[in-house]
Order: sequence, then structure tokens, then C-alpha cells
Amino acid sequence: MANLFKSKVGWKIIKVGLFEMKVIIQGFGICDYCNKSMEEGNLILVLNQIYCDSCYNRFDNDSRYYAEDVSYENKVFEYYKSILKIVV
Ligand SMILES: [Zn+2]
Repeated sequence: MANLFKSKVGWKIIKVGLFEMKVIIQGFGICDYCNKSMEEGNLILVLNQIYCDSCYNRFDNDSRYYAEDVSYENKVFEYYKSILKIVV
């Protein structure tokens, strides 16, 4: 079940399971950073990429918040919000 949360610096992240990754998003369940297969993924909307927990933790610790990227993040969020049926 898709679960929306925010990273330490405030980016919107959607936690998804295998069903969402493979059936709804039509991906492969593979981390976009390390290429390992994963049971759950962290959809980083501002990057439009999905990371495993380990790669996400590094992103969470190292990323910075850039206000100029929020409009792009929101555009990506609207797409995933509709296909994953996220209620905010
Ligand atoms: Zn990874």
C-alpha cells in the first residue's frame, strides 16, 4: 500500500510495495541507484526515481531542499497521486 511521507529536508516520498512497483507503476522492482531488486521502494518524486531503503537512507542524509524544484516535484506527485490513488 502506497504511503506518502516527507524526507528529513522536506521532499515528498512515496513508499510502495511490489504490487505498486510492478503492476501499477509498471516498473521492475529494481533500485534506480544500485540496481538491486527490492520488495519495497521509496519513490523520490523530485528525482522521479525509486530507491531501495539503503540508497534512500543515503539520499535522506545527503540531500538538500531546493525551492526551485518544488514545481517539478508537484508535477510528478500529481501523476503518482492519481495512479496510486493517494488521498492527501
Ligand atoms: Zn539501492
